[in-house]
Amino acid sequence: ATPTALMVGTGRGAQLGILIKGPEVLESTRRVDTVVLDKTGTVTTGRMTLLAVHPAEGVTEDEVLRLAGALEHASEHPVARAVADGARSRLGALPVPEDFANVPGLGVQGVVEGHAVLVGREKLLAEWAMELPAALARARAGAEAAGRTAIIVAWDGAARAVLEVADAVKETSAEAVGRLRALGLRPVLLTGDNRAVAESVAREVGIAPEDVIAEVLPEEKVQVVERLQDEGRTVAMVGDGVNDAAALARADLGLAMGTGTDAAIEAGDLTLVRGDLRAAADAIRLARRTLGTIR
Ligand code: ADP
Ligand code: MG
Repeated sequence: ATPTALMVGTGRGAQLGILIKGPEVLESTRRVDTVVLDKTGTVTTGRMTLLAVHPAEGVTEDEVLRLAGALEHASEHPVARAVADGARSRLGALPVPEDFANVPGLGVQGVVEGHAVLVGREKLLAEWAMELPAALARARAGAEAAGRTAIIVAWDGAARAVLEVADAVKETSAEAVGRLRALGLRPVLLTGDNRAVAESVAREVGIAPEDVIAEVLPEEKVQVVERLQDEGRTVAMVGDGVNDAAALARADLGLAMGTGTDAAIEAGDLTLVRGDLRAAADAIRLARRTLGTIR
């Protein structure tokens, strides 16, 4: 590989909206055979909306939104923004939590108006030895069957509601997956979200259910990349979140969404400036072409 050809490759990358950390990155890009795609914010827009509230008996929607909205207002997570915005648009100002903590990959917990509140996935409830009553379990199953994420709200020791949130698949994602396949790559969808939602997104973009890895904790994403590498694969990882940073660094090639977090951008080898997944396919094609012409 002559330095001039590599420089031309990186220059062309910039035109395509791909920032390359160094010319040596092109070599690992060329060898990639598997592309692991984070779901939220990478394949989907990451802008979630609160679509429904299912309170348990004896609880009002407003009570749920007041406590859950107040707690989520303190979090940056896309789910948290959907819940806080939904609550605020309905109730106006929300109380300020007396105590707040993020539980990465699971949700949030804290104290609002004297109530100990949890908002997150069912696994968070399990950590507090709480169970989901049958009516709420049905609401959760209905939400997930519709391809939405079900979030549980609990306070003072009991689950009190299920919230439905969803975001949309980016318009360009299906085409991007098609282009990655056309390059001979195997796309894998990786997410902390539940399996039903993950499979529904996968179906929309053309990824097979057996290539969906769901319900992983943030620290397990890097292990998924390592497992694929142990199977002999050369792995590219595309992600945007703080929870993707370790996997981006571990992958043979890390591609960060330019619309994502600083942590992801710092961990990646390449940045897809516009957050358009099609640029991932462009990057791989460019690397093959650049290095192909100089061999
Ligand atoms: P992803 O891999 O899809 O980007 P995360 O690992 O950040 O997702 O989160 C996994 C799951 O944990 C989310 O789908 C959601 O169900 C739950 N979760 C995480 N943070 C929050 C929060 N602040 N409020 C409610 N639920 C949350
Ligand atoms: Mg993400």
